[in-house]
Amino acid sequence: MDLPIVIAPTIAIAGSEDRFPVRRIFCVGRNYADHAREMGSDPVREPPFFFTKPADAVTPGGLLAFPVQTSNLHHEVELVVALGAGGTNVETDNAEELIFGYSVGIDLTRRDLQDVAKKGARPWDMAKGFDESAPIGPLKPGAPSASGTIALTVNGEERQSGDIADMIWSVPEIIATLSTYVTLAPGDLIFTGTPAGVGPIRPGDSVIGTIDGLEPIEIRYAA
Ligand code: MN
Repeated sequence: MDLPIVIAPTIAIAGSEDRFPVRRIFCVGRNYADHAREMGSDPVREPPFFFTKPADAVTPGGLLAFPVQTSNLHHEVELVVALGAGGTNVETDNAEELIFGYSVGIDLTRRDLQDVAKKGARPWDMAKGFDESAPIGPLKPGAPSASGTIALTVNGEERQSGDIADMIWSVPEIIATLSTYVTLAPGDLIFTGTPAGVGPIRPGDSVIGTIDGLEPIEIRYAA
């Protein structure tokens, strides 16, 4: 058989015809104290932990098929940073130099599968890394500011609201820590954690994630 040439998934860049090629997607767990508490953990400042999604989990949003294998799909609105440069053992003071741009994304989670995985000390991959599990809006070039409102509505009703300033680990600290585990590279995305208020999305719902100064990300599921 003829094998296809695999082309990197891409995401839009605000104000540009160019697109950002996605290499890998890393995500931080529990990075806001109020969300750590709602998930039953103490928000201690232990080092951040990471999980991944496949690069082709990215989607610009719009009308999506409701995910299979779940009856408890959850929204987690997050600041996403996109790296335009890489490195290993990056110093916190130099970490912002790696950032190409930032956006608002939704770390969609099949919470029922994650609960089973947690109980069995199994991997989270199938709870976090499914098809179209990483809706992300257009990237704004530059590094994000250290504060600003991050929020999410479902059918117009506010479900999540927090401030970037309430992150347990800042974006530069996250990049520096992650670079001790893997060699970071251009095209890598990092989801930086969600504030409190995560909850279910049902067929027919319309979900909008926002961060000050960014184009919102909107997803809708058919009823
Ligand atoms: Mn998350």
